[in-house]
Amino acid sequence: MWSLPNRPSLTGAMLLFFTLAFGHRPCLAQTKDPLPPRPKETSPTPRLDMAPRLADRVQDTPATVVRLFKDAGMSPRAHVLTVNERRLVAQSLAALPPLYQRVLQTRLRSLSFLDNMPNTALTSTVESTSPSPLFDITIRAGILQQTASEWLTEKERTCFTPNDSTVQVAIEGGARAALDYVLMHEATHVIDATLKLTPTSSATGQLLDSAAAKPFTAGVWQRRTLPTPAWRHALLLQIPFRRGGKALPITKAAQVYASLQQTPFVSLYGSSSWTEDLAEYLTVYYFTHRLHQPFRIVLRQHAQELWAYEPMQSGLVRRRMRQLKHLLA
Ligand SMILES: [Zn+2]
Repeated sequence: MWSLPNRPSLTGAMLLFFTLAFGHRPCLAQTKDPLPPRPKETSPTPRLDMAPRLADRVQDTPATVVRLFKDAGMSPRAHVLTVNERRLVAQSLAALPPLYQRVLQTRLRSLSFLDNMPNTALTSTVESTSPSPLFDITIRAGILQQTASEWLTEKERTCFTPNDSTVQVAIEGGARAALDYVLMHEATHVIDATLKLTPTSSATGQLLDSAAAKPFTAGVWQRRTLPTPAWRHALLLQIPFRRGGKALPITKAAQVYASLQQTPFVSLYGSSSWTEDLAEYLTVYYFTHRLHQPFRIVLRQHAQELWAYEPMQSGLVRRRMRQLKHLLA
Protein backbone atom coordinates (compact mmCIF):
# COMPACT_ATOMS: atom_id res chain seq x y z
CA MET A 1 0.00 0.00 0.00
CA TRP A 2 1.17 3.49 -0.69
CA SER A 3 -0.54 5.35 2.08
CA LEU A 4 1.27 7.45 4.59
CA PRO A 5 0.74 6.51 8.23
CA ASN A 6 0.08 10.13 9.04
CA ARG A 7 -1.22 12.83 6.80
CA PRO A 8 1.27 15.69 6.58
CA SER A 9 -0.26 18.86 7.88
CA LEU A 10 -1.21 21.15 5.06
CA THR A 11 -0.56 24.79 5.36
CA GLY A 12 -2.00 27.60 3.36
CA ALA A 13 1.38 27.88 1.69
CA MET A 14 1.12 24.71 -0.34
CA LEU A 15 -1.34 22.98 -2.62
CA LEU A 16 -0.79 19.25 -2.73
CA PHE A 17 -1.90 16.60 -5.16
CA PHE A 18 -1.01 13.15 -3.89
CA THR A 19 -1.35 10.37 -6.39
CA LEU A 20 -2.44 7.09 -4.89
CA ALA A 21 -1.99 8.02 -1.32
CA PHE A 22 -4.76 10.17 0.02
CA GLY A 23 -6.91 13.17 -0.73
CA HIS A 24 -5.86 16.74 -0.43
CA ARG A 25 -7.35 20.05 0.37
CA PRO A 26 -6.79 22.60 -2.35
CA CYS A 27 -5.85 25.94 -0.89
CA LEU A 28 -4.99 28.15 -3.82
CA ALA A 29 -6.42 31.61 -3.85
CA GLN A 30 -7.96 31.79 -7.29
CA THR A 31 -10.66 33.76 -8.99
CA LYS A 32 -13.57 32.55 -11.05
CA ASP A 33 -12.67 32.66 -14.72
CA PRO A 34 -14.29 31.15 -17.80
CA LEU A 35 -12.37 28.30 -19.40
CA PRO A 36 -9.80 29.95 -21.68
CA PRO A 37 -8.55 28.25 -24.84
CA ARG A 38 -4.97 29.07 -23.85
CA PRO A 39 -3.50 29.95 -20.47
CA LYS A 40 -2.39 33.54 -20.08
CA GLU A 41 0.82 32.24 -18.58
CA THR A 42 2.04 30.51 -21.73
CA SER A 43 4.81 32.96 -22.39
CA PRO A 44 7.61 30.86 -23.84
CA THR A 45 10.09 32.57 -21.53
CA PRO A 46 10.41 30.90 -18.13
CA ARG A 47 11.66 32.78 -15.11
CA LEU A 48 15.34 33.64 -15.28
CA ASP A 49 16.17 31.27 -12.43
CA MET A 50 14.54 28.29 -14.21
CA ALA A 51 16.32 26.22 -16.86
CA PRO A 52 14.94 26.93 -20.35
CA ARG A 53 14.52 23.21 -21.16
CA LEU A 54 12.03 21.16 -19.15
CA ALA A 55 14.43 18.21 -19.16
CA ASP A 56 16.97 20.39 -17.34
CA ARG A 57 14.55 20.99 -14.47
CA VAL A 58 15.11 17.43 -13.27
CA GLN A 59 16.96 18.07 -10.03
CA ASP A 60 17.16 17.24 -6.34
CA THR A 61 13.85 17.21 -4.49
CA PRO A 62 13.29 20.61 -2.82
CA ALA A 63 13.85 20.58 0.94
CA THR A 64 10.26 21.73 1.56
CA VAL A 65 8.93 18.61 -0.16
CA VAL A 66 11.33 16.25 1.61
CA ARG A 67 10.27 17.81 4.91
CA LEU A 68 6.63 16.96 4.17
CA PHE A 69 7.49 13.29 4.01
CA LYS A 70 9.79 13.40 7.02
CA ASP A 71 7.15 15.18 9.08
CA ALA A 72 4.88 12.25 8.23
CA GLY A 73 7.44 9.77 9.56
CA MET A 74 8.86 8.76 6.18
CA SER A 75 12.52 8.51 5.22
CA PRO A 76 12.64 9.20 1.49
CA ARG A 77 16.03 9.05 -0.21
CA ALA A 78 17.21 11.08 -3.18
CA HIS A 79 17.34 8.96 -6.33
CA VAL A 80 20.22 9.56 -8.71
CA LEU A 81 18.98 8.94 -12.24
CA THR A 82 21.02 6.67 -14.48
CA VAL A 83 21.80 7.78 -18.02
CA ASN A 84 18.96 5.60 -19.33
CA GLU A 85 16.51 6.90 -16.72
CA ARG A 86 17.41 10.49 -17.57
CA ARG A 87 16.73 9.71 -21.23
CA LEU A 88 13.37 8.16 -20.32
CA VAL A 89 12.39 11.26 -18.34
CA ALA A 90 13.30 13.53 -21.28
CA GLN A 91 11.23 11.32 -23.62
CA SER A 92 8.22 11.40 -21.27
CA LEU A 93 8.38 15.19 -21.02
CA ALA A 94 8.60 15.44 -24.82
CA ALA A 95 5.57 13.14 -25.17
CA LEU A 96 3.28 15.53 -23.26
CA PRO A 97 0.72 17.48 -25.31
CA PRO A 98 1.96 20.84 -26.65
CA LEU A 99 -0.30 22.87 -24.33
CA TYR A 100 1.04 20.95 -21.33
CA GLN A 101 4.61 21.68 -22.36
CA ARG A 102 3.86 25.38 -22.75
CA VAL A 103 2.26 25.60 -19.31
CA LEU A 104 5.05 23.60 -17.67
CA GLN A 105 7.60 25.91 -19.28
CA THR A 106 6.42 28.71 -17.03
CA ARG A 107 5.04 26.76 -14.06
CA LEU A 108 7.28 23.75 -13.40
CA ARG A 109 10.10 24.61 -11.01
CA SER A 110 11.40 21.08 -10.49
CA LEU A 111 10.85 17.45 -11.38
CA SER A 112 12.54 15.02 -9.01
CA PHE A 113 12.62 11.37 -8.02
CA LEU A 114 12.78 9.74 -4.61
CA ASP A 115 13.32 6.21 -3.38
CA ASN A 116 11.41 4.93 -0.37
CA MET A 117 8.48 7.23 -1.12
CA PRO A 118 5.16 5.79 0.04
CA ASN A 119 2.92 7.15 -2.71
CA THR A 120 3.52 7.35 -6.44
CA ALA A 121 3.77 11.08 -6.91
CA LEU A 122 3.25 14.47 -5.36
CA THR A 123 2.55 17.74 -7.13
CA SER A 124 2.95 20.72 -4.83
CA THR A 125 2.96 24.47 -5.15
CA VAL A 126 5.91 26.60 -4.25
CA GLU A 127 3.84 29.65 -3.24
CA SER A 128 0.12 29.03 -3.41
CA THR A 129 -0.75 32.66 -2.67
CA SER A 130 0.90 33.79 -5.89
CA PRO A 131 -1.50 34.40 -8.80
CA SER A 132 0.88 32.32 -10.93
CA PRO A 133 2.36 29.75 -8.54
CA LEU A 134 5.19 27.46 -9.51
CA PHE A 135 4.98 23.70 -9.01
CA ASP A 136 7.29 20.89 -7.95
CA ILE A 137 6.53 17.37 -9.16
CA THR A 138 8.06 14.53 -7.15
CA ILE A 139 7.80 10.94 -8.36
CA ARG A 140 8.66 7.59 -6.74
CA ALA A 141 11.69 6.31 -8.67
CA GLY A 142 10.49 2.69 -8.57
CA ILE A 143 8.00 3.35 -11.36
CA LEU A 144 10.85 4.07 -13.78
CA GLN A 145 11.24 0.32 -14.18
CA GLN A 146 7.57 -0.38 -14.89
CA THR A 147 5.30 -0.30 -17.91
CA ALA A 148 1.98 1.50 -17.74
CA SER A 149 0.20 -1.87 -17.57
CA GLU A 150 2.36 -3.10 -14.70
CA TRP A 151 1.99 0.03 -12.63
CA LEU A 152 -1.74 0.46 -13.29
CA THR A 153 -2.38 -3.17 -12.37
CA GLU A 154 -0.28 -2.95 -9.20
CA LYS A 155 -2.17 0.19 -8.16
CA GLU A 156 -5.59 -1.26 -8.95
CA ARG A 157 -4.93 -4.42 -6.93
CA THR A 158 -4.53 -2.31 -3.77
CA CYS A 159 -8.30 -1.82 -3.97
CA PHE A 160 -9.00 -5.47 -3.16
CA THR A 161 -8.01 -8.20 -0.72
CA PRO A 162 -7.59 -11.74 -2.16
CA ASN A 163 -10.28 -13.17 0.10
CA ASP A 164 -9.38 -16.80 -0.79
CA SER A 165 -10.39 -16.12 -4.37
CA THR A 166 -8.35 -16.83 -7.50
CA VAL A 167 -9.94 -13.86 -9.26
CA GLN A 168 -7.59 -10.96 -10.00
CA VAL A 169 -8.00 -7.54 -11.55
CA ALA A 170 -5.62 -6.17 -14.16
CA ILE A 171 -5.47 -3.03 -16.25
CA GLU A 172 -4.21 -3.40 -19.78
CA GLY A 173 -2.62 -0.01 -20.33
CA GLY A 174 -0.01 -0.87 -22.93
CA ALA A 175 3.77 -1.23 -22.93
CA ARG A 176 4.70 2.44 -22.75
CA ALA A 177 6.59 3.55 -19.66
CA ALA A 178 4.59 3.99 -16.48
CA LEU A 179 6.29 7.39 -16.27
CA ASP A 180 4.39 8.53 -19.37
CA TYR A 181 1.12 7.91 -17.54
CA VAL A 182 2.18 9.29 -14.16
CA LEU A 183 3.78 12.42 -15.60
CA MET A 184 0.69 13.14 -17.71
CA HIS A 185 -1.52 12.69 -14.62
CA GLU A 186 0.61 14.98 -12.43
CA ALA A 187 1.04 17.58 -15.17
CA THR A 188 -2.75 17.66 -15.48
CA HIS A 189 -2.90 18.89 -11.88
CA VAL A 190 -0.67 21.80 -12.92
CA ILE A 191 -2.86 22.46 -15.97
CA ASP A 192 -5.96 22.30 -13.74
CA ALA A 193 -4.58 24.78 -11.21
CA THR A 194 -3.36 27.09 -13.98
CA LEU A 195 -6.48 27.07 -16.17
CA LYS A 196 -8.89 26.61 -13.24
CA LEU A 197 -10.73 23.68 -14.77
CA THR A 198 -12.15 22.45 -11.46
CA PRO A 199 -13.50 24.64 -8.62
CA THR A 200 -10.87 26.34 -6.54
CA SER A 201 -10.54 27.19 -2.88
CA SER A 202 -9.11 30.07 -0.91
CA ALA A 203 -6.12 29.62 1.39
CA THR A 204 -8.59 28.99 4.21
CA GLY A 205 -10.29 26.18 2.31
CA GLN A 206 -13.37 28.14 1.27
CA LEU A 207 -14.65 27.30 -2.21
CA LEU A 208 -14.40 30.26 -4.55
CA ASP A 209 -16.74 28.85 -7.18
CA SER A 210 -19.21 26.03 -7.43
CA ALA A 211 -19.06 22.69 -9.19
CA ALA A 212 -21.93 23.91 -11.38
CA ALA A 213 -19.78 26.82 -12.58
CA LYS A 214 -17.25 24.54 -14.24
CA PRO A 215 -18.18 22.58 -17.36
CA PHE A 216 -16.20 19.51 -16.34
CA THR A 217 -17.72 19.18 -12.87
CA ALA A 218 -21.23 20.54 -13.56
CA GLY A 219 -23.83 17.81 -13.04
CA VAL A 220 -21.15 15.31 -12.02
CA TRP A 221 -19.81 16.58 -8.72
CA GLN A 222 -21.65 18.12 -5.78
CA ARG A 223 -18.57 18.67 -3.66
CA ARG A 224 -14.87 17.95 -4.21
CA THR A 225 -15.14 14.30 -3.18
CA LEU A 226 -18.91 13.80 -3.45
CA PRO A 227 -20.49 13.03 -6.84
CA THR A 228 -24.01 14.21 -7.56
CA PRO A 229 -26.69 11.67 -6.52
CA ALA A 230 -26.96 10.29 -10.07
CA TRP A 231 -23.33 9.15 -10.02
CA ARG A 232 -23.06 8.27 -6.34
CA HIS A 233 -22.65 4.56 -5.66
CA ALA A 234 -22.13 3.11 -2.20
CA LEU A 235 -19.28 0.78 -3.19
CA LEU A 236 -17.36 3.50 -5.02
CA LEU A 237 -17.48 5.62 -1.87
CA GLN A 238 -15.68 2.83 0.03
CA ILE A 239 -12.61 2.31 -2.16
CA PRO A 240 -9.19 2.85 -0.55
CA PHE A 241 -8.36 5.75 -2.86
CA ARG A 242 -10.77 7.75 -0.70
CA ARG A 243 -10.12 9.05 2.77
CA GLY A 244 -11.43 6.44 5.19
CA GLY A 245 -11.79 3.84 2.45
CA LYS A 246 -10.29 0.38 2.66
CA ALA A 247 -9.53 -2.57 0.43
CA LEU A 248 -12.67 -4.50 -0.49
CA PRO A 249 -12.91 -8.29 -0.88
CA ILE A 250 -12.03 -9.27 -4.45
CA THR A 251 -15.36 -11.10 -4.53
CA LYS A 252 -16.95 -7.64 -4.67
CA ALA A 253 -14.84 -6.52 -7.64
CA ALA A 254 -17.53 -7.31 -10.21
CA GLN A 255 -20.01 -5.17 -8.26
CA VAL A 256 -17.49 -2.36 -7.86
CA TYR A 257 -16.81 -2.21 -11.60
CA ALA A 258 -20.49 -2.59 -12.44
CA SER A 259 -20.97 0.59 -10.39
CA LEU A 260 -18.11 2.29 -12.23
CA GLN A 261 -19.74 1.40 -15.56
CA GLN A 262 -22.79 3.40 -14.52
CA THR A 263 -20.78 6.60 -14.08
CA PRO A 264 -18.89 9.08 -16.30
CA PHE A 265 -15.64 8.31 -14.41
CA VAL A 266 -12.84 6.72 -16.38
CA SER A 267 -11.30 4.81 -13.47
CA LEU A 268 -11.82 4.01 -9.80
CA TYR A 269 -9.16 6.55 -8.94
CA GLY A 270 -10.97 9.13 -11.03
CA SER A 271 -14.11 8.61 -8.96
CA SER A 272 -12.37 9.77 -5.77
CA SER A 273 -12.45 13.56 -6.31
CA TRP A 274 -13.00 16.13 -9.02
CA THR A 275 -9.27 16.85 -9.38
CA GLU A 276 -8.44 13.14 -9.81
CA ASP A 277 -11.44 12.78 -12.14
CA LEU A 278 -9.92 15.40 -14.44
CA ALA A 279 -6.34 14.07 -14.17
CA GLU A 280 -7.44 10.50 -14.88
CA TYR A 281 -9.82 11.48 -17.66
CA LEU A 282 -7.27 13.52 -19.61
CA THR A 283 -4.52 10.95 -19.06
CA VAL A 284 -6.61 7.99 -20.24
CA TYR A 285 -8.02 10.04 -23.10
CA TYR A 286 -4.50 10.99 -24.20
CA PHE A 287 -3.23 7.43 -23.85
CA THR A 288 -6.05 5.90 -25.84
CA HIS A 289 -6.76 8.56 -28.46
CA ARG A 290 -3.39 10.21 -29.05
CA LEU A 291 -0.84 7.56 -28.08
CA HIS A 292 -3.09 4.71 -29.29
CA GLN A 293 -2.66 2.63 -26.16
CA PRO A 294 -5.29 0.32 -24.67
CA PHE A 295 -7.06 1.09 -21.40
CA ARG A 296 -9.01 -1.98 -20.43
CA ILE A 297 -10.02 -3.19 -16.97
CA VAL A 298 -10.11 -6.98 -16.80
CA LEU A 299 -11.17 -9.54 -14.20
CA ARG A 300 -9.53 -12.93 -14.68
CA GLN A 301 -9.64 -16.28 -12.94
CA HIS A 302 -6.41 -18.11 -13.71
CA ALA A 303 -5.96 -17.37 -17.44
CA GLN A 304 -9.66 -17.06 -18.18
CA GLU A 305 -11.15 -13.63 -18.72
CA LEU A 306 -14.34 -13.27 -16.70
CA TRP A 307 -15.22 -9.68 -17.50
CA ALA A 308 -13.70 -6.64 -19.22
CA TYR A 309 -14.52 -2.96 -19.56
CA GLU A 310 -13.05 -0.23 -21.76
CA PRO A 311 -14.16 3.03 -20.13
CA MET A 312 -13.40 5.11 -23.21
CA GLN A 313 -15.99 3.07 -25.13
CA SER A 314 -18.72 4.06 -22.65
CA GLY A 315 -21.15 6.72 -23.87
CA LEU A 316 -21.27 8.27 -20.39
CA VAL A 317 -17.49 8.69 -20.39
CA ARG A 318 -17.09 9.68 -24.04
CA ARG A 319 -19.58 12.51 -23.93
CA ARG A 320 -17.22 14.53 -21.73
CA MET A 321 -14.53 14.54 -24.43
CA ARG A 322 -15.92 17.47 -26.36
CA GLN A 323 -15.20 20.00 -23.64
CA LEU A 324 -11.61 18.78 -23.14
CA LYS A 325 -10.34 18.01 -26.62
CA HIS A 326 -8.77 21.43 -27.09
CA LEU A 327 -6.41 20.76 -24.18
CA LEU A 328 -4.82 17.85 -26.03
CA ALA A 329 -4.68 19.30 -29.54
ZN1 LIG B 1 -3.62 12.99 -8.90
